[in-house]
Amino acid sequence: MKCEICGEVKTNSTEVITDNKGTTCYCPNCMVDAYIGGKLDFENNPEFIDDITGEHGAVKYERGDEQYVLEKETMLRLIGYNLDPDEYFALVDKYGNEQFMLHDDFYDEFDGGAIQPLDDQYDDDYDDYDDDEYDDEQEED
Ligand SMILES: [Zn+2]
Repeated sequence: MKCEICGEVKTNSTEVITDNKGTTCYCPNCMVDAYIGGKLDFENNPEFIDDITGEHGAVKYERGDEQYVLEKETMLRLIGYNLDPDEYFALVDKYGNEQFMLHDDFYDEFDGGAIQPLDDQYDDDYDDYDDDEYDDEQEED
Protein backbone atom coordinates (compact mmCIF):
# COMPACT_ATOMS: atom_id res chain seq x y z
CA MET A 1 0.00 0.00 0.00
CA LYS A 2 1.04 3.59 -0.62
CA CYS A 3 0.11 6.98 0.84
CA GLU A 4 -3.10 8.10 -0.82
CA ILE A 5 -1.74 11.61 -1.33
CA CYS A 6 2.04 11.56 -1.97
CA GLY A 7 2.52 7.89 -2.92
CA GLU A 8 5.13 7.12 -0.24
CA VAL A 9 5.39 3.37 0.23
CA LYS A 10 3.89 2.11 3.49
CA THR A 11 6.18 2.07 6.53
CA ASN A 12 5.60 1.24 10.18
CA SER A 13 4.39 4.80 10.84
CA THR A 14 1.94 4.89 7.94
CA GLU A 15 -1.60 5.46 9.17
CA VAL A 16 -4.27 3.26 7.67
CA ILE A 17 -7.95 4.18 7.90
CA THR A 18 -10.73 1.75 7.09
CA ASP A 19 -14.26 3.12 6.96
CA ASN A 20 -17.43 2.39 5.07
CA LYS A 21 -15.83 3.66 1.84
CA GLY A 22 -12.78 1.39 2.01
CA THR A 23 -9.18 1.46 3.21
CA THR A 24 -6.97 4.52 2.80
CA CYS A 25 -3.29 4.86 3.60
CA TYR A 26 -1.63 8.11 4.75
CA CYS A 27 2.01 8.84 5.59
CA PRO A 28 2.20 10.90 8.80
CA ASN A 29 2.87 14.20 6.99
CA CYS A 30 -0.04 13.82 4.61
CA MET A 31 -2.33 12.78 7.46
CA VAL A 32 -1.52 16.01 9.31
CA ASP A 33 -2.02 18.07 6.13
CA ALA A 34 -5.33 16.36 5.42
CA TYR A 35 -6.48 16.87 9.01
CA ILE A 36 -5.50 20.54 9.13
CA GLY A 37 -6.95 21.13 5.68
CA GLY A 38 -10.26 19.65 6.81
CA LYS A 39 -10.04 16.97 4.12
CA LEU A 40 -10.64 13.94 6.33
CA ASP A 41 -14.20 12.82 5.78
CA PHE A 42 -14.88 9.43 7.30
CA GLU A 43 -18.02 7.36 7.02
CA ASN A 44 -18.84 5.01 9.89
CA ASN A 45 -18.82 1.34 8.89
CA PRO A 46 -21.88 -0.26 10.49
CA GLU A 47 -19.96 -3.51 11.08
CA PHE A 48 -17.29 -1.91 13.28
CA ILE A 49 -17.93 -1.58 17.00
CA ASP A 50 -16.76 1.57 18.78
CA ASP A 51 -13.97 0.89 21.33
CA ILE A 52 -15.49 3.34 23.80
CA THR A 53 -19.27 3.13 23.47
CA GLY A 54 -19.60 -0.48 22.27
CA GLU A 55 -22.04 0.75 19.62
CA HIS A 56 -22.02 -0.34 16.00
CA GLY A 57 -20.84 2.19 13.42
CA ALA A 58 -17.22 3.24 13.55
CA VAL A 59 -13.96 3.79 11.69
CA LYS A 60 -10.81 1.70 12.13
CA TYR A 61 -7.37 3.28 12.52
CA GLU A 62 -4.14 1.29 12.29
CA ARG A 63 -0.55 2.44 12.73
CA GLY A 64 2.12 -0.24 13.18
CA ASP A 65 0.83 -2.50 15.96
CA GLU A 66 -1.68 0.05 17.17
CA GLN A 67 -5.34 -0.12 16.31
CA TYR A 68 -8.40 1.85 17.39
CA VAL A 69 -12.02 1.58 16.37
CA LEU A 70 -13.94 4.77 17.02
CA GLU A 71 -16.94 6.55 15.56
CA LYS A 72 -15.90 9.17 13.04
CA GLU A 73 -16.06 12.30 15.21
CA THR A 74 -14.00 10.67 17.95
CA MET A 75 -11.60 9.34 15.31
CA LEU A 76 -10.97 12.89 14.11
CA ARG A 77 -10.18 13.93 17.68
CA LEU A 78 -7.76 10.97 18.02
CA ILE A 79 -5.96 12.01 14.83
CA GLY A 80 -5.90 15.63 16.01
CA TYR A 81 -4.43 14.59 19.42
CA ASN A 82 -7.44 16.25 20.93
CA LEU A 83 -9.47 13.51 22.64
CA ASP A 84 -11.75 14.52 25.48
CA PRO A 85 -10.40 13.32 28.86
CA ASP A 86 -13.16 10.68 29.10
CA GLU A 87 -12.19 9.31 25.70
CA TYR A 88 -8.49 9.37 26.54
CA PHE A 89 -8.97 7.43 29.79
CA ALA A 90 -11.30 4.90 28.13
CA LEU A 91 -8.65 4.16 25.49
CA VAL A 92 -5.83 3.99 28.04
CA ASP A 93 -7.93 1.51 30.04
CA LYS A 94 -8.34 -0.61 26.94
CA TYR A 95 -4.91 -0.31 25.33
CA GLY A 96 -2.50 1.03 27.96
CA ASN A 97 -0.56 4.26 27.88
CA GLU A 98 2.45 3.01 25.92
CA GLN A 99 0.59 3.60 22.67
CA PHE A 100 1.96 6.30 20.39
CA MET A 101 -1.40 8.01 19.92
CA LEU A 102 -1.99 8.11 23.71
CA HIS A 103 1.56 9.10 24.63
CA ASP A 104 2.11 11.50 27.51
CA ASP A 105 3.60 13.99 25.04
CA PHE A 106 0.06 14.41 23.78
CA TYR A 107 -2.06 14.03 26.93
CA ASP A 108 -1.72 14.81 30.61
CA GLU A 109 -1.77 11.31 32.11
CA PHE A 110 -3.41 12.61 35.30
CA ASP A 111 -6.24 14.80 34.06
CA GLY A 112 -6.44 13.52 30.47
CA GLY A 113 -6.11 17.01 29.02
CA ALA A 114 -4.78 17.36 25.47
CA ILE A 115 -1.30 18.94 25.56
CA GLN A 116 -0.61 19.66 21.92
CA PRO A 117 -3.71 19.32 19.76
CA LEU A 118 -2.95 19.73 16.06
CA ASP A 119 -5.48 22.53 15.73
CA ASP A 120 -3.54 24.70 18.18
CA GLN A 121 -0.21 24.02 16.50
CA TYR A 122 -1.39 25.10 13.10
CA ASP A 123 -3.92 27.84 13.88
CA ASP A 124 -1.35 30.63 13.66
CA ASP A 125 0.01 29.52 10.30
CA TYR A 126 -3.42 29.32 8.81
CA ASP A 127 -4.46 32.68 10.21
CA ASP A 128 -1.42 34.25 8.54
CA TYR A 129 -2.21 32.55 5.28
CA ASP A 130 -5.79 33.77 5.35
CA ASP A 131 -4.70 37.31 6.18
CA ASP A 132 -2.30 37.39 3.22
CA GLU A 133 -5.00 36.28 0.83
CA TYR A 134 -7.34 38.87 2.24
CA ASP A 135 -4.73 41.61 1.78
CA ASP A 136 -4.12 40.62 -1.83
CA GLU A 137 -7.80 40.85 -2.61
CA GLN A 138 -7.98 44.29 -1.02
CA GLU A 139 -5.06 45.56 -3.11
CA GLU A 140 -6.73 44.49 -6.32
CA ASP A 141 -9.67 46.70 -5.45
ZN1 LIG B 1 1.99 11.04 1.97
